[in-house]
Amino acid sequence: MECKCFVCGTQSKDRVYLECYHEGEKKMVCVRCLPPLIHGAH
Ligand SMILES: [Zn+2]
Repeated sequence: MECKCFVCGTQSKDRVYLECYHEGEKKMVCVRCLPPLIHGAH
């Protein structure tokens, strides 16, 4: 499965990705982009 962060668009294989749902769609987000999402930043 291809991992591409929907926030920053990176596809680095040595970065950790998590599955999430955004706007009703299942997407992948890298851990570096996760904290802003958790804190509700836009
Ligand atoms: Zn990212």
